[in-house]
Amino acid sequence: MNNQAIELFSATYVEARTKFLQAAAKRGLAVNSFVLPLQGVDGETLATDVVLDGPDDAESLLMVISGVHGVEGYCGSAIQTGALDVGLPQQTRSEGKVAVLHVHAVNPYGFSHSRRATQENVDLNRNFIDFSAPLPVNAGYADIHDLLLPQTWPPHPDNEAKLANYRERFGDRGLQRATSMGQYAFKDGLFFGGHEPTWSNKTFRRILQQYGGQRTHIASIDIHTGLGPYGFGERILACPEEPVVLERARRWWVNLTSVETGTSTSIPLNGPVQTAFAEECPEALQTHICLEYGTRPSGQVKTALRAEHWLYRQGSVDQTGNAAIKQALKDAFYPDADDWKLAVWQQGCEAYKQAIEGLRSTR
Ligand SMILES: [Zn+2]
Repeated sequence: MNNQAIELFSATYVEARTKFLQAAAKRGLAVNSFVLPLQGVDGETLATDVVLDGPDDAESLLMVISGVHGVEGYCGSAIQTGALDVGLPQQTRSEGKVAVLHVHAVNPYGFSHSRRATQENVDLNRNFIDFSAPLPVNAGYADIHDLLLPQTWPPHPDNEAKLANYRERFGDRGLQRATSMGQYAFKDGLFFGGHEPTWSNKTFRRILQQYGGQRTHIASIDIHTGLGPYGFGERILACPEEPVVLERARRWWVNLTSVETGTSTSIPLNGPVQTAFAEECPEALQTHICLEYGTRPSGQVKTALRAEHWLYRQGSVDQTGNAAIKQALKDAFYPDADDWKLAVWQQGCEAYKQAIEGLRSTR
């Protein structure tokens, strides 16, 4: 099984997509592809692919979601392919109550082009805000935008000293909030939330409208990488922290962290994807988590992200420089190591089974 599990992981978006589609075909499941009219890095088709595994009319739906943050998609894609391949959802079939909806590569452009952001340079997990209201203000980001993305790369030591100074004044959490809670003032900046709903946002809502409307209960596992200890999958509650929701989610998944209470490696965000669940399927009971896998030390992840973003603003350096920066980003969010992949698969499987069991046993 170990080798089989490792084989679920891919080296490119097109390979990941092919494995996912093949796993669906092997099970005889239909694929609904939402094609993005842009090309992938090797000219391939880009799409968010959706596969329903289980009865159409199941009252409960588990959504497994990959690639909200493009390059992070390898991890979730492998779990989805494995879940289809080894037929985990068949456990649900006997009772007909639960179906699983795999949403593969919500941000296919970023997945293929080794970016965390979408083709609009938007952090999709900051894009689900109410655009008819005034945009959220992140004054902290404005203070450090030029330091995070200096004119030259690698950054000058003076630049890094100023950033270290900011960290000393506001602490690690203060720096993390300013950098990554989402900002709406710098279109070419980091963690930009956008000025309108992106293609991926609209597509995700269409998927919810199409598959979520009639359900009494919707749960989801939204798979990410880049925060926390290497190979550890942190389960972060991703819905409003009402006591009844928290109690239910703890019963299913046991160890849960929270951005509200500060027990998570993550922080409260502007406009996360999960906002769409309540907006598009207001009648359904909601139980959502992010499964966030640690990869590399946080300093390395952040440097890789800044460098790739610098490259994005620059357009290009030279072929060798471009490739090195892209590879460093990929490695920061997707360690090419068997122990990491195995740990990802085992914990992904566990969270998945717990969710199905939870949905089955919740009235
Ligand atoms: Zn992420």
